[in-house]
Amino acid sequence: MSDPRALFRRYLEQQIALGQPAIVWSTDRRIDGSADRGADGQTGGQTDGMAERRDVDPSGRRSVGPSTRPSAAPPARRWAKDLPAIPTDIGFVLEAPTQDLFSTDPLAAADMSAVERLVHACTNCGLHEKRRHAVPGEGPREARLVVVGEGPGATEDEQGRPFVGRAGELLTEILAAIDCPRETVYICNVVKCRPPENRKPAADEIEACMPYLHRQLAIIRPKVILAMGGTAAEALLHTKASLGSLRNKVHQYRGIPLIVTYHPAALLRNPNWKRPTWDDVRIARQLLDQ
Ligand code: SF4
Repeated sequence: MSDPRALFRRYLEQQIALGQPAIVWSTDRRIDGSADRGADGQTGGQTDGMAERRDVDPSGRRSVGPSTRPSAAPPARRWAKDLPAIPTDIGFVLEAPTQDLFSTDPLAAADMSAVERLVHACTNCGLHEKRRHAVPGEGPREARLVVVGEGPGATEDEQGRPFVGRAGELLTEILAAIDCPRETVYICNVVKCRPPENRKPAADEIEACMPYLHRQLAIIRPKVILAMGGTAAEALLHTKASLGSLRNKVHQYRGIPLIVTYHPAALLRNPNWKRPTWDDVRIARQLLDQ
């Protein structure tokens, strides 16, 4: 769509679809191309080169298209009456939108806000049916470290934020221990809606949700990814290998170093995994320092 008028019309339609109030070109021009009628019943404004004229023929039927009648005199432009007329030429070049605001494709999301907007509206898998809040993720867009967990639990579902229950508190402590304050880290999950009863997300749910995570990682491009738990490791590395065999190594996700370790919720259940987790996150720290 390269016609500037079509682009401009599309842009205005999208703004209105997004809840912007109706846009009135001026008191005597409307963006839909129809012309307001002044108190005297005259058609207001001359054609602006962008919109079609709509006229009423003598039979009372509406005709659409360029008018063949001479332009009626413009009515008084109220507060703008002493100002120069609005130019009939737009006078600037409209760039094509970088993103189609009607698109629901996560991979087309222009930025993190767009990803979040899509996640909140997403119904791509059955997990949307019982969620209270979708949980896209949180943290700075320029984070050097991204933590990826499995999916929201009850507290996360309630608050719409990732890692905010007891496991979240433990994650905050782990990050502080490697000198990565939580607020400097982007934290998210493989699936953005809570699986009922905190069950492991099903393969089709993971497949439906992964484009969001891929897009988030592409936008942030962190220096290191920390996959916490087997589900995150499997999804990001496309592997069925056990977590025990994946941890304590440096993997690659699309050229980004990726470390696998235990999920904080697992650590709460089994404190014996504290030491191996510490070994893993120290590798992440070393990578960040390189
Ligand atoms: S889990 Fe992911 S794919 Fe499923 S509804 Fe939520 S955001 Fe959409």
